[in-house]
Amino acid sequence: MDMRKIKGWLLVVLFFSTSIVLAGNGKKPEKLVKSPQSMEQFVDDLMAKMTLDEKIGQLNLPVTGDIVTGQAKSSDVAKMIHNGQLGGLFNLKGVAAIKELQKMAVENSRLKIPLIFGLDVVHGYKTVFPIPLAMSCSWDIDAIENSAHIAAVEASADGICWTFSPMVDICHDARWGRVAEGSGEDPFLGSAIAAAMVRGYQGDLSSNTNIMACVKHFALYGAVEAGRDYNSVDMSKNRMFNEYLAPYKAAIDAGAGSVMTSFNTVNGVPATANRWLLTDLLRNQWDFKGFVVTDYTAIAELIAHGLGDLQQVSALSLHAGVDMDMVSDGFLGTLKKSLDEGRVTETQINEACRRILEAKYKLGLFSNPYKYCDIHRAKKEIFTAEHRGAARKLATESFVLLKNNNNLLPLQRKGTIALIGPLADSRANMPGTWSVAAESNCYLSLLEGLNQVAGDKVKILYAKGSNLMSDSSYEERATIFGRSLNRRNSDEELFKEALNVAAKSDVIVAALGESSEMSGECSSRSQLDMSDSQHALLKALLKTGKPVVLVLFSGRPVILNWEKANVPAILNVWFGGSEAAVAISDVLFGDVNPSGKLTTSFPQDVGQLPYSYSHLNTGRPLAKKQWFTKFHSEYLDVSNDMVYPFGYGLSYTTYKYSDLTLSSSAMESDGSLQAFVTVTNTGSRDGDEIVQLYIHDMVGSVARPVKELKGFRRVHLKAGESKQVVFNITPDLLKFYNNDLKYVAEPGEFQVMVGPNSEDLQSQSFVLNNVGLK
Ligand code: BGC
Repeated sequence: MDMRKIKGWLLVVLFFSTSIVLAGNGKKPEKLVKSPQSMEQFVDDLMAKMTLDEKIGQLNLPVTGDIVTGQAKSSDVAKMIHNGQLGGLFNLKGVAAIKELQKMAVENSRLKIPLIFGLDVVHGYKTVFPIPLAMSCSWDIDAIENSAHIAAVEASADGICWTFSPMVDICHDARWGRVAEGSGEDPFLGSAIAAAMVRGYQGDLSSNTNIMACVKHFALYGAVEAGRDYNSVDMSKNRMFNEYLAPYKAAIDAGAGSVMTSFNTVNGVPATANRWLLTDLLRNQWDFKGFVVTDYTAIAELIAHGLGDLQQVSALSLHAGVDMDMVSDGFLGTLKKSLDEGRVTETQINEACRRILEAKYKLGLFSNPYKYCDIHRAKKEIFTAEHRGAARKLATESFVLLKNNNNLLPLQRKGTIALIGPLADSRANMPGTWSVAAESNCYLSLLEGLNQVAGDKVKILYAKGSNLMSDSSYEERATIFGRSLNRRNSDEELFKEALNVAAKSDVIVAALGESSEMSGECSSRSQLDMSDSQHALLKALLKTGKPVVLVLFSGRPVILNWEKANVPAILNVWFGGSEAAVAISDVLFGDVNPSGKLTTSFPQDVGQLPYSYSHLNTGRPLAKKQWFTKFHSEYLDVSNDMVYPFGYGLSYTTYKYSDLTLSSSAMESDGSLQAFVTVTNTGSRDGDEIVQLYIHDMVGSVARPVKELKGFRRVHLKAGESKQVVFNITPDLLKFYNNDLKYVAEPGEFQVMVGPNSEDLQSQSFVLNNVGLK
């Protein structure tokens, strides 16, 4: 027998012998607890039986990789479960493994408290939906809610009861790679999506197909300085409350069961140790009743932030309002000592423990610890035709048609298409960042999808054309986690092949842009132009004189000045999930008319960042479409315009907006008024148009943004059809946080703007009367 095996065998023996004799902490084993009528009573009873160590154990969330079924017993995790040293685990998938560990918890630990099992189910499970930024561009709240529901069904069928989603961080800076994980730059749309995701995941939590949501990253993570991940955030309360906090609050109001702290500082104090944020705001002002978990090792990272040693920072975090420690081992290792030394109180530990137990109660785990361990579900409920159909449809809605000269798109189903580019034949890059349950071998590359959807009258030729970029070490960093693009040595050879293929074609589809790991965590970029080798390839393809369609993969806004000026058609497809390849093909061939609209502005230059369409006016605003007028707020070298503004997106048909009218020119403080606009499909194809409503508060006690999104509708219009769209405007929609952080609507004039994007708007105005305004 080799030594490793002997060691393993000894561990198993040791494990069983200790479990017989001690059953955890030397206390007498208890019977399996049953969930009683009232949560409070139940948790009171349970906590009365718990030792201090067992309470602290509930606050601990270690990570586990895949544990091979049958081996769990001999793992370190088994010992911790047996000793009551953890409240849950994350990163484990599959009912067999999860059930085995849950069984240990409910049979071998003294108090038989079930575990929660978490995972980053961020945009789908094995059926992968588009990355969240893409999903938001559908503005289809019902479909987004359904995507979260489907994700919950699949994850729960695989044993998971808790997801680290939705990610609701507002971001104005495309350099930050995690812009891919959120819903873009707008708090109004972001709030609607945040709430929808929570509803989709959680339902009422009674069913075993619903899982608990965790809204993250609290807070302001999307505003990290210079777009560099994990960096600091310093922000006025005015901006915080008006521009960034609303989506977290919306998720909490929708009932999110948990909140994850963020890595960044908030005005000098790291979020994980920030009592103002986690207790004053979250619990006292917002009345959050769930539990707070840290981000990965965020407590230990407070040491590097300069807040003290592990004992000190663990005490600080508990005091701030953290309930569960993800991976740092700070609570487990130091809280008892801190209690002895008077650095934390027993009440603080009790409160945190109670919140974890309550979450387990709400999930129904005390009634049935195996609620999420039905071994028959995975086969029937994961990656089903129905789920994939929903993902395909939502993917088509998320793509944004940025340019389409002379109706080059849709492609005709005839002749020869040259599909060229480093992203054209990569299955692994389709799902996008943070798709931890993706199985890329089950998905199609764009080449495969195009072949499937094209039919037999079209010939499709393929060439890779270039590497992702000429710098091989950059490419290595940009293709980690098994998402290699199989780099080839000679750029010249790749070029030659591509030009040969292009020469034989009628139309070129260039599949270029970012690899999926160029966005997401720790994927900040200082330059956002297309890479050198892909740019050279695109130039060469255009030089052939053939029509070129750019299918642009990206996880963030990128710089497209040159592409906008030179490429006849651009379809931005982000990362569209497991069904991306067929969804892109559906749109390219016109089976689906594109309808997505940008939820994040595409700048001309990195130097314009951070940027939001909803900025303040300044005292020296530049007149619209002007550049340059000395002593105005602008740059010498680039205009203030965006390449593509917030809300922008084309269709294969055209729409006309007319007759914007308001039902009244004045509104009372307890009244409302309606804005009416007629939208007509003036083209020859049916389509969905996303109609947008913006409001400008013309005079305020503080400077107010030039416009703010306050309403939107997805409207289906048949070719030639007109519909009247009605928006109801109430004083609530006009409220903002004033300098005393009071949420108020101030009397005065408001401009109402409606249109297809944040730039092309018709406007009307009304006055809000001040009678009785609070
Ligand atoms: C990320 C979180 C994620 C966590 C657990 C962290 O690195 O910031 O978004 O939920 O890991 O995987």
